[in-house]
Amino acid sequence: MKTKILILAIVVAMMSSCGNDKKKDGEVKDTSKTETVNVPVFNEDSAYSYVDKQVSFGPRVPGSKAHLECRDWLVSELKRHGAETTVQNITVRTYDNKVINGYNIIGSINPGAQSRIMLSSHWDSRPYADWDPDPANHNKPILGANDGASGVGVLLEIARVLKTNQPPIGVDIFFWDVEDYGEPRDAQGQEKEDTWGLGSQYWSKNPHKPGYTARYGILLDMVGASFASFYHEGFSQRYAPSIVSKVWSHAHELGYANYFLNSESNPIMDDHYYVNKYANIPTIDIIHQDNNSQTGFFPYWHTLKDDMSQIDRKTLKVVGQTLLRTVFYEK
Ligand SMILES: [Zn+2]
Repeated sequence: MKTKILILAIVVAMMSSCGNDKKKDGEVKDTSKTETVNVPVFNEDSAYSYVDKQVSFGPRVPGSKAHLECRDWLVSELKRHGAETTVQNITVRTYDNKVINGYNIIGSINPGAQSRIMLSSHWDSRPYADWDPDPANHNKPILGANDGASGVGVLLEIARVLKTNQPPIGVDIFFWDVEDYGEPRDAQGQEKEDTWGLGSQYWSKNPHKPGYTARYGILLDMVGASFASFYHEGFSQRYAPSIVSKVWSHAHELGYANYFLNSESNPIMDDHYYVNKYANIPTIDIIHQDNNSQTGFFPYWHTLKDDMSQIDRKTLKVVGQTLLRTVFYEK
């Protein structure tokens, strides 16, 4: 994914600062706090092993053997956890006019429930380490331990937990493909729009089930690094401010205020943007942004060092437990 240009960030910041939605959401949250809801435990060791397993296939670049092997493993894991699983075969055109095959993977839990929420993450990894400090690495694929595998690992652990703990609503887990094939830094010519999130763009225009909808969606992206910082990302705040409020409140109730920060950040062109824009499902992005790094993301973003050494079980726990709490407090 990439950061949207600054002028848009300013416009979005102005738009979202106009309303008083935050206050209203705070009142809603207070009501739910008084209830006692049993929320199952998220196991960070299990989540870590799911991240590690994905990385063990190698870079999951569309068109590679590792990509197909990982696809089959993800499908078998979702099925093993009792999810009704669909693979959406897609054909997309990349920034350099290659036509490639991809696979969006969807696991439905409690499929009979009318009211649903969607949890998602991209499962492909980037073909280019275009932010690696060594330019010789810029055309090499990345392992994407944090950028890709971390979010999927958290969601697989949630699927495992939900198998034995029936949620009060339906939960659909989406693994987006071809998110990270966007135009590389060194590409000639002008920056093209919409070269990222190709799998979610496709699905948002062609849902796997006609008429599919959900109350809201939560996207995870880079949720595994130590001391991650999650802000009210600009598009989330614009399209789904009440969901940002809700999720951040749950995180704070759990004592995770050091991770879930209450300030707004630059909008990011990520899968949630297309789900909001084309599928009209209000969707937020829990994404690690870092004002102190050159790229605005976690320091090893799109480098060869995005490997298992970046993954911290504590961060997986923080995000996973927050999601479980959010799910179980729904009615
Ligand atoms: Zn990426």
